Amino acid sequence: MTETRDWLTEGLPNIWLPYTQMATAAPPLAVVASQGVRLRLADGRELIDGISSWWTACHGYNHPHIRAAVERQLATLPHVMFAGLVHEPALRLAQRLAALLPGDLERVFFTESGSVAVEVALKMAIQYWRNKGQAEKQRIVYFRHGYHGDTFATMALCDPEEGMHALFAGSMPDHIMAELPSDETTRRAFDLLLETHAGRLAAVIVEPLVQGAGGMKMHDAQTLAFIAEACRRHQVLLIADEIMTGFGRTGRLFACEEADVIPDIVCLSKALTGGTLPLAATVARRHVFEAFLADDPSAALMHGPTYMANALACAAANASLDLFEREPRLAQVAAIEAQLREELAPCRELAGVAGVRVKGAIGAVELAGGIGLDALRRRFAGLGVWVRPFGNVVYLMPPFVIGAADLATLTAAVRSVLAERAATL
Ligand SMILES: *Cc1c(COP(=O)(O)O)cnc(C)c1O
Repeated sequence: MTETRDWLTEGLPNIWLPYTQMATAAPPLAVVASQGVRLRLADGRELIDGISSWWTACHGYNHPHIRAAVERQLATLPHVMFAGLVHEPALRLAQRLAALLPGDLERVFFTESGSVAVEVALKMAIQYWRNKGQAEKQRIVYFRHGYHGDTFATMALCDPEEGMHALFAGSMPDHIMAELPSDETTRRAFDLLLETHAGRLAAVIVEPLVQGAGGMKMHDAQTLAFIAEACRRHQVLLIADEIMTGFGRTGRLFACEEADVIPDIVCLSKALTGGTLPLAATVARRHVFEAFLADDPSAALMHGPTYMANALACAAANASLDLFEREPRLAQVAAIEAQLREELAPCRELAGVAGVRVKGAIGAVELAGGIGLDALRRRFAGLGVWVRPFGNVVYLMPPFVIGAADLATLTAAVRSVLAERAATL
């Protein structure tokens, strides 16, 4: 093995990091191993991961059950193209997802990233109406503070001001942004918007209950139920982007369950493989799928990523679902929620804190005033925790297996970093 300082200093000049101003940002930390809820750094330090590697590692790192499943798969069939050929891990996974999702959400299209899963959902929705002879229904309604991905089609569905894509505004399709219908006024406005544009609308897309990368904004189940009901009334499809909320993060296996909503299309990714391998799924209800069945090749869904339904990733996802069956994940989420509520509440008293929000295993503290993200991030790492604020929020989304003591270390770090900041305001 080479020395860390060799691969780090020799390789860094060839790496382009995400969402990073590389002229000024602090250098990234070198990770050499992970275990449970901990990351081990090259300099020997250990960090407790408070954000589950972008919200994926719900069982913690290196779970032996997932590792064994992937090792077995690697020895027999790591990957095979998924056109004209199928394999057991993908078919079993599709069947299990269909059984877990509500209603007749039962047709699963696999891809390799969340953004692409949303792109596929958009294609499904637009072509659904075309196949039904309503080709003018092509536009999508999305919500303020929403985030649906980094690719061109999905950027056009992110909040245009707060989103990370304002730069490209001129070169994206023109969809329609709405306010979340959370009170009388916004409900009337949303209803009117759908009524006015229904003839040109393919779908509404929403992150159910929690808008993640757009700022950890939370809404209630009634708001979600109202959106679903309005979509039905105005004949517009509903796409639920559960990429962040899916697999227990909000307290139910899927956030839509809390509002008894059955969307027409659901997008899944982040925690699908328990944070081990890239995989995503776009799942459609029966009536959506049936609109593609015709004696006409051009009515078929025209999409097919090279690595779709990768067998290693599907094996990891099946093992992850085993863990949801065998281990008390949702009870763990409920315990995390109670602890986050109690231990983040004192942040409300600090200067420069605009609000504290908790839902399931998500705790967010919204800041006011100058944020100084880089300095905050460095401070957290200095306290032995991996917490990475973005925009104006400091948030925790720990692995569900985290123990109470480790979670207390995370919340104490948030309180102390924000108290230090308050003292300088
Ligand atoms: C992360 C995320 C995406 C994009 O997924 P990628 O795998 O990063 O492409 C889309 N929608 C939501 C709600 C997300 O949280």
